[in-house]
Amino acid sequence: MREFICKRNDLSLILNIYKPTKYKSLQIEPSTLYVVPTPIGNLTDITHRSLSVLSEVELVLCEDTRVSRKLLNHYDIDTPTKSYHMHNEHRTVDSLVEQLQQGISMALISDAGTPAISDPGFLLVRACLQAGLRVITLPGPTAFIPALVQSGFPTDRFVFEGFLPHKKGRKSRLSQLAEETKTIVLYESPHRIVKTLVQCAEVMGPDRPASISRELTKAFEETVRGTLEELEAHFTTHPPKGEFVLVIQGKN
Ligand code: SAM
Repeated sequence: MREFICKRNDLSLILNIYKPTKYKSLQIEPSTLYVVPTPIGNLTDITHRSLSVLSEVELVLCEDTRVSRKLLNHYDIDTPTKSYHMHNEHRTVDSLVEQLQQGISMALISDAGTPAISDPGFLLVRACLQAGLRVITLPGPTAFIPALVQSGFPTDRFVFEGFLPHKKGRKSRLSQLAEETKTIVLYESPHRIVKTLVQCAEVMGPDRPASISRELTKAFEETVRGTLEELEAHFTTHPPKGEFVLVIQGKN
């Protein structure tokens, strides 16, 4: 059969190998929240177990159902979806916990990467645990791990800071980070990356080594390494596009 598929070179047949039936090997537990990481760009970066869970739970909670539908359609998964995002998480948590207590199994996904990592999810996980419900978190994609490893800075100890506060508390957070001796990992948007580099250089010194990974797993993936000052100069002349992770070497 495999040989036949290769001879025909028919992509749709090859893709059929990966139909959801193939993943249906899991015993999904009732009253359980599965936290499922999804790709950060390359749609093939998802584990078989994640696909099994998404196929077999009764409900998938999505940050944006339209974004997640593309992923689910790609893998022929037709599990019902429901919105769970930063604007409704406070008011929906209680009813989701109730549904879980009634026996429903759910998966939580975000638009990309691991839910609850600079994404909605923390409130629901905490509420489930407080209610004595089971939470199973699957391992999988997240942007900061490849960026950290790729930076070449020490990985034995690091601090993940997510997004810096935009206004209130930004200065004090930067001053604290200036004294940090562990490798520092930050998420940043293309609109703010140059400003963040300028401010980091001000408090940490222009010569502090850093690394920026952008568009990880995507067609225009790149990692640029240099001092904070050099990276600032680079992204001033090369207008920043895409999604960014900034990794800064800790203070010596
Ligand atoms: N939950 C996600 C995770 O596990 O990485 C993070 C979601 S957060 C809303 C989005 C930020 O993650 C982006 O602004 C960027 O800093 C980072 N990010 C996500 N995808 C990325 C990618 N493909 N390349 C570089 N950074 C990425």
